[in-house]
Amino acid sequence: MEIMDLGRIVLLCPSCGQSIPVAPGPLGSEIGCAGCGESIPVSGGPPIRGSAPRNCRICGCPHLYWQKRFNQKLGCLIVAAGAALVPWSYGLSLPVVALIDFILYRRLPRISVCYVCKARYLGLPPHPGHEPFDLVTAQSQEARALNWAEGRLRPACGGAGEGGSESPDGEG
Ligand SMILES: [Zn+2]
Ligand SMILES: [Zn+2]
Repeated sequence: MEIMDLGRIVLLCPSCGQSIPVAPGPLGSEIGCAGCGESIPVSGGPPIRGSAPRNCRICGCPHLYWQKRFNQKLGCLIVAAGAALVPWSYGLSLPVVALIDFILYRRLPRISVCYVCKARYLGLPPHPGHEPFDLVTAQSQEARALNWAEGRLRPACGGAGEGGSESPDGEG
């Protein structure tokens, strides 16, 4: 028995911000948001294997970054526990907490995130072409992200073929 490790995509609804899980496998249809009923067309492509795709499967954008999948609540809890223990540990709890945070952070899996549609690619390592979050790239993609959220950049449903011929704009 072979378990296929397919990546999962979680999309944030551009209308209401709710997380929408996208089923793995060939895309190219529409996803409905359970929160507000908004339907979001996806550009699609072959199934995702091995690593996150180079280009975003939702909006087709080639700009993705990776980040650590950090559990914010757990991180806050550890820091709060460390701060609460300061009077009893003569301040030694703080470096211990920092060490725990550091070890946890190093063990966290990396996930790819799209600059434009904010789709997150879980369960698979990022594509080798993806880089850590870059503020300059984020700012250069801000207009695109806004257009996408307002529906102006979303691919037309049904006619999406393989290999988009869209030329990248505003590089650098
Ligand atoms: Zn929604
Ligand atoms: Zn995207």
